[in-house]
Amino acid sequence: MSETGKEQLRYLPKVDQVLARPEFSAAMEEHARETVVEAVRAAIADMRNAILNGKSINVNEDTAVNIALYKLEKSEVRSLRRVINGTGIVLHTNLGRARLPKSVAEAVSSIASGYSTLEYDVEKGARGSRHDHVNRLISKVTGAEDAIAINNNAAATLIVLMALAHRKEVVVSRGELVEIGGAFRVPDIMKVGGTILKEVGTTNKTHLYDYEKAIGENTAAIMKVHTSNYRILGFTEDVPAEELAKLAHANGLPMIYDLGSGLIVDLQSYGLDEPTVGSAFRAGADLALFSGDKLLGGPQAGIIAGKKEYIDIIKKHPLARAMRLDKMTLCALEETFRLYEDIEHAKKEIPVLSMITRPAAEVKNKAAIFGSRLRNVGIAADISIMQGVGRVGGGSAPMLDLETWAVAIVPRSMSVDKLAESLRHWVVPIISHVQNDCLLLDMRTIADDELDVTAKALIDILV
Ligand SMILES: *Cc1c(COP(=O)(O)O)cnc(C)c1O
Repeated sequence: MSETGKEQLRYLPKVDQVLARPEFSAAMEEHARETVVEAVRAAIADMRNAILNGKSINVNEDTAVNIALYKLEKSEVRSLRRVINGTGIVLHTNLGRARLPKSVAEAVSSIASGYSTLEYDVEKGARGSRHDHVNRLISKVTGAEDAIAINNNAAATLIVLMALAHRKEVVVSRGELVEIGGAFRVPDIMKVGGTILKEVGTTNKTHLYDYEKAIGENTAAIMKVHTSNYRILGFTEDVPAEELAKLAHANGLPMIYDLGSGLIVDLQSYGLDEPTVGSAFRAGADLALFSGDKLLGGPQAGIIAGKKEYIDIIKKHPLARAMRLDKMTLCALEETFRLYEDIEHAKKEIPVLSMITRPAAEVKNKAAIFGSRLRNVGIAADISIMQGVGRVGGGSAPMLDLETWAVAIVPRSMSVDKLAESLRHWVVPIISHVQNDCLLLDMRTIADDELDVTAKALIDILV
C-alpha cells in the first residue's frame, strides 16, 4: 500500500462524527436509529475498501454522509413494486399478469386491514365456510353446478388428478401435452399427481377412435387441455369437446377440461380464438379448470367448476386445505365475479378486457395526444407515433396480433438503451421496449392515469 493510502486510512471519519452531522437529524425521524448507524458504518467500510483497492476518493465527512444517505434511500425501495407496462403485452406474466379493477383493489384493502367473515356466518353467529364466498357466484356466472377456488390453475390440475384419478389412467391427446412457462408441464403434473398418463394420437392428429381404444378398466377420466400458448396448424385434427364428453359419459367417466385462461365473455368479434368457460359446459365438460389472473382479469387463483359430485370429492381432499386461498384473494375473486353479472360493465371495468377490446383508433389517438404533450415540453428527443403489434400474453391467444400504437422516442443526448435503463430505474419503474433504435411506450397497456407519471419521468431524464 502506498504512503498516501496509509495516510488516507488515518483520515477516515469516525462513525459518531458522521452521525452528528445535521443531515441525519431528519433521517433519524424516518428510520430507526440502528438503521442509520448501520448505514453510516457501511458507508465508512465502503470508503476503507475503496482506499485499500487503490481507488481515488475524497476522504472526508461529506463523502461518508452522501454514501450513507444513498444507502438509506435504497434500503427504502421495496422489492415488489408497482411498474408501468409499456410493452403492449396485456397479460405480462413477469409483470404480474392481470391488473385488478380499482373497485376490486379497494375491496381487498378493506378486507386486509380488518377482521372479516372469512369463516364466519353472520346469520347464524357460527362458523362458516370460506368456500361459500365464491362458489355460488362462480356457478351463477359460468353455469356450473358448484365450484371451488384454490391457489392457481397448476394446483387445480394437480388436485383434480389426485382426487379423481390417483393410481388410475387419464387419457390425453399427444397434441395437448402443454408446457406453460417451463415449470408447468402436463406430463409432470400427472406424474406428481400419481396419475398414469395415457397419451393418445399423434402431435398433429388425434381421432375419436384413439380415445375409444385407450379407455380400459383402469381409466378414471378423459382430459382435454387447451393449447393456450401454441396452435398446431396445417394437417391437423383434434376431437371436439362435445364428442369427448359423449365418449366419457358413455363409459361412465368424467370429462375434465383444462381451459387455461377462464374467458367468460365471448371475444370472437375481437379476434380472440379462446373457448369460454360457458362453452366448455355446453359441450358437456364435467369439470372446467381455469386461472383467475389470465383472461378472467382477477387475482391469481385456480378455479375448478362443474358437477357437484366431483367438486365435493375435491373439497374433501387434504390438498384442498394445503392449497386454500387467503382472504385477500377470496375477496378479489368475489368482487371480480360480481362485475361479470353485467357483461357490458365487466368489459369496461376489468382492465384486461378493456385493454383488449379498446379500438385501435382510440389507442392511436391516445398516442398522438401523449406524443404532442412530450413535444410541447421540449424534451431532448424526437417523438413520433408508431403502429405496432400488441399481444394478449400470459399464454393466451398466441395467434392474435392486437393492433396497437406506441409513442416512439429517439433521445438526442443519450443512447436508446440508456434511456430504457433510466426509465426502469425511475421511482415507478417504466418498462418499455426497444425496436429499430427507437424506444417504444405502448399506449394500449399504459393506463390513462399513468400518463402523468410517465411524462414526468421522461422530462426529468431528458430535459
Ligand atoms: C396457464 C395454464 C395453466 C397454469 O395456470 P396457472 O394459474 O398459471 O397456474 C394450466 N393449464 C393451462 C392450459 C394454462 O394455459
